Amino acid sequence: MNVLIVGSGGREHAIAYCVAKSHKADKIYCTPGNAGIAEYAQCEPIGAMEFDKIVAFAKEKDIDLVIVGMDDPLVGGLVDELEAAGIRTFGPRKNAAILEGSKAFSKDLMKKYHIPTAAYENFDDPDKAIQYLKTEAKFPIVLKADGLALGKGVLICNTLEEAEEGVKTIMLDKKFGASGNTMVIEEFMTGREVSVLSFVDGNIVKTMTSAQDHKRAGDGDTGLNTGGMGTFSPSPFYTEEVDAFCQKYIFQPTVDAMKAEGRPFKGVIFFGLMLTEEGPKVLEYNARFGDPEAQVVLPRMKNDIIDVAEACIDGTLDQIDLQFEDNAAVCVVLASEGYPVSYEKGLPITGLDEFKKHEGYYCFHAGTKEADGQIVTNGGRVLGITAKGKDLKEARANAYAATEWVQFDNKYMRHDIGKAIDEA
Ligand code: ATP
Repeated sequence: MNVLIVGSGGREHAIAYCVAKSHKADKIYCTPGNAGIAEYAQCEPIGAMEFDKIVAFAKEKDIDLVIVGMDDPLVGGLVDELEAAGIRTFGPRKNAAILEGSKAFSKDLMKKYHIPTAAYENFDDPDKAIQYLKTEAKFPIVLKADGLALGKGVLICNTLEEAEEGVKTIMLDKKFGASGNTMVIEEFMTGREVSVLSFVDGNIVKTMTSAQDHKRAGDGDTGLNTGGMGTFSPSPFYTEEVDAFCQKYIFQPTVDAMKAEGRPFKGVIFFGLMLTEEGPKVLEYNARFGDPEAQVVLPRMKNDIIDVAEACIDGTLDQIDLQFEDNAAVCVVLASEGYPVSYEKGLPITGLDEFKKHEGYYCFHAGTKEADGQIVTNGGRVLGITAKGKDLKEARANAYAATEWVQFDNKYMRHDIGKAIDEA
């Protein structure tokens, strides 16, 4: 089978690693890919939003299965275009990817189907939003741009002044472009965050092992929000009791709700949850694997990823016995100093071969490329160093030890990924 993966980050590298392990995969392609993915796949410099070119490439290479990793092409309708050309594709169609593409949509869906989430109001008029903030809001309060904003469209405001400034930033200055035409104003919740990724076939959902992300740039959750500085899996706070609640009141109800709305969801739903005192509530939905959650979840998956992807497409997920290893994994992101604001690119990376010598250790490339026969940095988040261990503590020690194998100038990482493990 010929497989095409769409995307270029650490998540797509983790997907490519799983596809390469599959007994079904013959030839693997990736658009546009990166220097790490190139180990398993022939990378083609086609951007993820160049739909016509992707469809033409998939036809030319006789692709049997496309896996779309990234949110933008999913929300933009790449799956619909590939399917219209007769190409089997793993990922939600545009009318289902809206679950991630519009926060106003997802909040209204949760309200209509009684899925636990923070109280909220949607606004498309900045004056009305400010009026609401002045008269009804309790602080702190959360402002969210409706559409995709690279994880940066969420503002937590402690005062009315901050919130007024936030409305201006999102709705008037349009810092996140058209994503800010509509805004959600949401109750501030407190609790531990946990991510649960799941496979969905339009009818049923099967959850993967849980994970936890670290979004802030600095140790102790300080500094700016990033795409994610590290993850661990499983989360010790995601107990059997929490899981039973979420399966009953959140996961299957979400899939049922999408079906009832005439938007059957096939692909991966990422449930971003907050474990509040009142019980688990949905923080957000994503319509694809998380990055860097995929880098700790997929290496622990025992199933053949192509079997699972095909079952999602065919509506036969009930026949898949989804299984994960009974161990743990930690991923520490190696970034370039200055990320997420400004950073140098093109710096040579050494030590990558070390990962070939050790089982249970992975170096997932995020921002890398090959230049003059050498692998160099090509982004803010450069590599995701994942290691497994018999438990979280061992996995964390292994991952941090492996971060020392790799060197590049301006290498930056957080030193407290998985610190919450000690509090469990
Ligand atoms: P991404 O897609 O990168 O995961 P996003 O832009 O979709 O992020 P959210 O996940 O909705 O944004 O929010 C980002 C972060 O903001 C959450 O992980 C959480 O820490 C915080 N947050 C969001 N909503 C709330 C809330 N209602 N109460 C408290 N914190 C919140």
